[in-house]
Order: sequence, then C-alpha cells, then structure tokens
Amino acid sequence: MKLTGLQIFKLLPNKNCKECGFQTCLAFAMKLVAKQVRLDACPYVSDEAKAVLGAASAPPIRLVGIGTGEREVKVGEELVLFRHEKAFFHKTAIAVQVDDRLSGDALGARVREAADFSVERAGERLCIDLIAVKELSGEPERFVAAVARVREMCPLPLILISRNPACMRAGLKAAGGTRPLLWGADRDNADELAALAKEAGAPLVAAPGGSIDDLAQFAAELAGRGVDDIILAPSPAGAADRLAAFTLLRRRALSRAAPGTGYPTILSVPGGGYEGAAAAVGGICKYASIVVLETPSPWHYLPLLTLRQGIYTDPQKPLQVNPGVYRIGEAKPESPLLVTTNFSLTYYMVSSEIEASEIPSWLLVVDAEGQSVLTAWAAGKFNPEVIAKAVVAQGLDTRVPHTRLIIPGYVAMMSGDLEDKLPGWNIMVGPQESADIPVYLKEVWTRLGT
Ligand code: SF4
Repeated sequence: MKLTGLQIFKLLPNKNCKECGFQTCLAFAMKLVAKQVRLDACPYVSDEAKAVLGAASAPPIRLVGIGTGEREVKVGEELVLFRHEKAFFHKTAIAVQVDDRLSGDALGARVREAADFSVERAGERLCIDLIAVKELSGEPERFVAAVARVREMCPLPLILISRNPACMRAGLKAAGGTRPLLWGADRDNADELAALAKEAGAPLVAAPGGSIDDLAQFAAELAGRGVDDIILAPSPAGAADRLAAFTLLRRRALSRAAPGTGYPTILSVPGGGYEGAAAAVGGICKYASIVVLETPSPWHYLPLLTLRQGIYTDPQKPLQVNPGVYRIGEAKPESPLLVTTNFSLTYYMVSSEIEASEIPSWLLVVDAEGQSVLTAWAAGKFNPEVIAKAVVAQGLDTRVPHTRLIIPGYVAMMSGDLEDKLPGWNIMVGPQESADIPVYLKEVWTRLGT
C-alpha cells in the first residue's frame, strides 16, 4: 500500500530536530514519499513505524541478483510503468542460450561469440550479461559437462534450464557456488526445485504454464515454501499475448494489490533472424527483466544492446562527459581545435569522426549541462560567452598558436559574436553533421597549411 506524505508524517516522531537534514518532520516525510531519502536518515523512528514504513517503502518489484562478484546481474526494483514517469533502474539482462545437445565446437563458438562481444557506446560498455545452459538430453552427465564447459570459457553468470530435478541438482553442483538462476519450477517439481534453490541461495524461475493468474498463485506458493528470490516466466502463445502478459504483470506488481506478481520477469525468445530480434525488442521495451536468446545471430547483439541503453538511460539526466580539452591522437599545439558540448552522444560522435580523419586534434568540450549542440544553443547553454570562458579557463588563449577555433556548423550564427568575445581569434565554421568532420579537416584545415 502506498502511503501519502501526511500518513508518513503521522508515523514520524515529530521532534523537528533537523538531524535528518530537513527543517521539519513534515519536510522529511515529503522527501520519503518522493523516494529521495532513506528512512534510516531519521534516528528516532520507532520500531513499529519502521515496520509500517519499511513495508510501504519497499519497491513493488523485488530486486533479484544472479551470479556473484563483479559480474552479478541485478534485475527488478522498478517503480513505474512508463520511463518518463521517473526512470527504469535495472536494465533488461540479455542472455545467450546453449544446450547440452550442442556439439562441443558449436557450444564453444556460441559462448565465445557472446562473451567476447563488447562495444563502447556513449561512454558505456555494452556486453551480453548471462549464459543460459539448457538441459535437453535428460542426462545429468551431459548437462554437467555443458555447464562445466561454459564455466571454463567465461565468467558470465549462468541460467540453468531444466525441469528434471536430478539434472538440475547436478548442474547446480557443476556451477559451483556461482549462484545461477534456476529455471524450471512447475507444479510437478516445485518441492525439489524450491529445496535446491533454498539450499544454494539461488533465485528460482516460476514457470508453471497457464495464465498469469496461475503464475502469480504459483509464485506465491514458492514464496510460502521459503524461496525469496523468484523470477516470473509467463508462457504466452504469440506476440500479442506476450505483450499483454508482461504488461499486465508489471501493472499488477506496481499496484501492489496482486500477491505473487511483485517479481522480475523472464522471456525466452525462440528462433533467430528478424522474428527473434523483433520478439527480443518487444521484451526489452515491455517489460521483461531478462531476455534469453535461444538461437541468436551475432548481428542481434548490437541493436538490442543499443536499444536497451536508450531505454534504461535516466530521461532526467542526459549522459554527460566531463568538460575539458580532449587530446585526440598525437595532437600538437598547431593541431586543429574544435569545440562541442558535453552531451555524451555528441562527444562520442564528434571524437570518433575526428579519429576517423586521422588528423590529430584538440576537442574543447564545454559544460552545456549534457545537452546536444542545438538544444544547448537554444537554451543559452552553448553561446559565445560560455565558449569564450571555456577557452580562457582551459588556457587555450595562450596554448594554441594558430588561434583558430572550429565551431559546429549548426551554430554558425554565433561566429561573429564569438570573435568579439575572443579578440584575435579566427572562428571557423565546421560542418553541421559530425560525419562530415573528416572531409572538413582534410580539405579545409590542411589547405590552411598550418
Ligand atoms: Fe523529524 Fe526525525 Fe528529521 Fe528529527 S530526524 S526532524 S525527528 S524526521
């Protein structure tokens, strides 16, 4: 149940002692409602109030960890249905599946491809998060061999998929205390799999089949058996059912009114190609906490991870890089000097095009509160005064012998004013699109013969 600010205030000590950092208990209560402070900032809350407030302030979707150490994957703890209401917090984990009937070479190749995939984009490293190992053989030894091989090859946390308790027990042993996610609890094996999950302290996937009401009821029963970390696996028949099932589960979880729904969700995407990619896109957008690619193609990885990055970026906090002067290549004092804003995507696009030009350069990055060039210009955050101040603050007025500054083509209109603010400087108007920077540097800059 969600409490209002006044209801929370009534549970606080009303001492107005300011030790929490706020002038009054009422102000603190309002911050609690907005989830901008933690309850333990007030040292005087009674145990009784803690019990009530703690339950009310717990996230509607449980946070569940898979794996251990640096590569641990955390999913859940989402607070909203739509990203613009606040933000999404724990990005959809992407898993690549192998099975114990694959040949050693095929299994090795798929694991290697997934584990080695790594791309830096907008300052973030994009990687596959998990490897799922599915038991299809019915033979514990083969499942163990597949799990052991994957563990040997990469440090990614595991999902073990089997409805056979003997195979799951053997696979779990082979996973060796790495706290894998166990996928396959249904009405036939619930006792054994719940016992295994509890013994290993591992999270468990509830996958009983049927409707989402059946799923929620089954999850509540698993919780009653003492399994704390549960992931819900709806079993929709097609794309429309999938969208409906995942959306309903998120809605019900956020309402806190439907027992057994307050857990992260998992989606298995059968098939590869465009159909598989489309299903995975649906899962990332609406509302799978984990997407398992059963038979992925390597070309799936980059677009899915890029999509995920866009969705899981806090809409209220643009990705930013630190303002300053960046040296690209072996830039010397006489190298070109360009200026842009500190919006992460802008910086990475501009800097990668400068790199592509193979002309070492300096890039002055101005603090524009993380906005792109035109947005920052329109908001008055990227104007002649701001740029001139940055040039002086960075000592470029004394360090750059050619006194030429290349501004983005989209803000060509400020070149005259900028020359007034930077007496003695020659303001050059660069291209509008970063993709044209290499040609500009090669054709315009090199012709200057500096
Ligand atoms: Fe009130 Fe507690 Fe803050 Fe003191 S520390 S003002 S009692 S909320």
